[in-house]
Amino acid sequence: MNVHDSEKIAAKLIEQGYNLTDDINFADLILFNTCSIRQKAEQKFYSELGKVKLIKRKKPQLKIAVAGCIAQQEGRAFKKKRPFVDIILGTQNIDQLDTLLNGGIAIDQKDDVNALELTAERQDKVKAFVNIMFGCNNYCSYCVVPYTRGRERSRSSQSILNEIQELGTAGYKEITLLGQNVNSYKSDCSFPKLLSLIHQIEGIERIRFVTSHPKDLDDDLIDTMSQLQKVCNHIHLPLQSGSNAIIKAMNRIYTYEQFKEKTIKLRKTIPEIAITSDIIAGFPGETDSDHNQTITALKEIQFDGIYAFKYSKRPKTKAATMDGHIDEEIKVNRLKEILEVQELTTGNINKKLEGNIFNVMVEGRSETNKNRWCGRTTSNKIVNFDPLPSLIPFAGMFIDIKIIQGFRHSLDGEIVKP
Ligand code: SAH
Ligand code: SF4
Repeated sequence: MNVHDSEKIAAKLIEQGYNLTDDINFADLILFNTCSIRQKAEQKFYSELGKVKLIKRKKPQLKIAVAGCIAQQEGRAFKKKRPFVDIILGTQNIDQLDTLLNGGIAIDQKDDVNALELTAERQDKVKAFVNIMFGCNNYCSYCVVPYTRGRERSRSSQSILNEIQELGTAGYKEITLLGQNVNSYKSDCSFPKLLSLIHQIEGIERIRFVTSHPKDLDDDLIDTMSQLQKVCNHIHLPLQSGSNAIIKAMNRIYTYEQFKEKTIKLRKTIPEIAITSDIIAGFPGETDSDHNQTITALKEIQFDGIYAFKYSKRPKTKAATMDGHIDEEIKVNRLKEILEVQELTTGNINKKLEGNIFNVMVEGRSETNKNRWCGRTTSNKIVNFDPLPSLIPFAGMFIDIKIIQGFRHSLDGEIVKP
């Protein structure tokens, strides 16, 4: 979400005659698009801001802007404490950036979809993010998003389809629909219907979406995913905890058993689907027994991968004032165990893929070895492979790859000769 917001911010600045630079010392304006989902993200920002303050001391005409969730959260007080910051831009105010370039604050939460329907300066030429909804009404007790991103609101299907149509014409092959909770999309049509309309757009070959909330994952969506060939075989479905007591305290509105049932149904209907998840370690009140239930859940469900985090206390949230906050050391140990169990599972799942052939969309040269190429399967697994003298890949090409070796974080493969 933030990456795409940055693309919209960049477009707005380019409209005003700015260019992007990779060298911070050349910049006339330095804009931070911040995240406040966990304290660690905030800390990183504050340490970068400290460095930029020093640059401004030597170059007083430099403008410094802070956008995103920290800007939204801290608002005017932030600027008062740090007068060297010129511009404060809330999460729903990107459209006003052009009026603030000499300094100012815009943080009013408008809850208006139109303010966020903006052109983006996309960084990739074949993959594109497309917002379908903004904000969140779920109030999970640990989460700051409902406070920083406002009420849940969905874009009209026509506006989404127009944007994707343009992307298809411009040569984009893959789109990722974005929302805090995409499957609660509510507009002039349902989310499954929206997928079927997008499916008809020429040029777009792959459709992904993040994130899905388990409470809104119904049979209609599972069936639609299995019927629409362009919808990728991947779902990110955050479980957060394997203990029903903790899931309830998190205000997530499902039980572990219901969640597990949904993963079984997904795998039965779409056998090649990869299911990934998020887990929080050390939520307030989490006992050893609760933690062990999360470990059992990971072993039972066998996710393809997870993002796991230590619980982080966030301002305004209900969990921040709950009893039973967990010691840092216990959180660290629980997170470590969660990651170890998952690494084994991911390794085993990827090992089982050896010998199979997958259609891969090439994304570019491999990060670790520039002589090799990399792409993704529809199940979102990264595959690295060598080019052939007779077949030089390019980004956006679809190519059959046989998996030679499965690792924990990627797969190694070879091109199947056409
Ligand atoms: N809307 C998405 C999640 C957005 S936040 C959903 O509901 O699934 C992404 C992830 O960050 C969450 O799934 C959660 O695991 C993690 N997260 C959010 N707030 C957190 C906090 N206070 N401490 C630790 N992890 C948190
Ligand atoms: Fe946060 Fe829950 Fe909303 Fe996700 S669904 S953004 S975790 S409040």
